[in-house]
Amino acid sequence: MSGLHNIVILTGAGISAESGLRTFRADDGLWEDHRVEDVATPQAFRRDPELVQRFYDARRENVLAAEPNAAHRALARLDREFSGELLIVTQNIDDLHERAGARHVLHMHGEALSALCLACDARHRWTGTLLGAPGCPACGEPAMRPDIVWFGEMPYEMDRIFAALTRADLFVSIGTSGAVYPAAGFVQQAKSARARTLELNLERSQGSAWFDQTRLGPASELVPAWVEEMLR
Ligand SMILES: [Zn+2]
Repeated sequence: MSGLHNIVILTGAGISAESGLRTFRADDGLWEDHRVEDVATPQAFRRDPELVQRFYDARRENVLAAEPNAAHRALARLDREFSGELLIVTQNIDDLHERAGARHVLHMHGEALSALCLACDARHRWTGTLLGAPGCPACGEPAMRPDIVWFGEMPYEMDRIFAALTRADLFVSIGTSGAVYPAAGFVQQAKSARARTLELNLERSQGSAWFDQTRLGPASELVPAWVEEMLR
C-alpha cells in the first residue's frame, strides 16, 4: 500500500451492471426503453409526473431486488481495512455499495431509495411508491419527487468531491467512461494534485488516455484483484 493516504474512487454503471441493474445507454439514449428526455429531466417531471414517478418506482423495486457483487464487496473491504482516508463517489443510484458494507459513499447523482421534497428540500429514505402524491414526512406537503439528479441539474456534493480529489494520492475510476463531465474533471483534478490515476473498465473508454494505467475486464474480477494488491 506504499505510502498512500488518500484514495478517491469513482464508480459507475459498469459495477452495478453485474448485479443486473441497467442505466441509460449513451449510444442510443435509452434507459429501460424510455428516452432520457422523457424520464430524467425536470421538464419531463413537469410534463408527465405520473410517468416519471412510475419509472422511478420501478427503479426502486429493481434496486431492492438486486444484490451487491464481488466488486462492491471488495470495495467495502478496502473501505474497512484501508488505514488512510477513502471516499467512494458513485454515479449509481442504487445502494449496493452500502449494502456490501461500505461506509464512505457519496451519491453524486442521487439515490433511488430516497425522495426529495420540493416544498422543504428534505430528503427521506423511500422504499415504496411515490404515486398518489404522498405527504412529506417533514412538512406534510404532497410535493415529493425522486431524489435523482436529472439532466440539467447540479450533481450533489461537488465541493466535497473536489476537496477530496485535491488531497488524493490515488484516483481510481471503475466501470465508467472517464470522458463525460463532470467525471472527466475528476481525473484531471486528481492529476493536477499529482495523484496516480487508475482506470478499471470493461473496455477502453474515451477517457482512458487521461489515466496513468488502464486495466480491462469485468469489475467483479478486476476490483477484488486490485483490492487484494492494495491490502497486501
Ligand atoms: Zn417537505
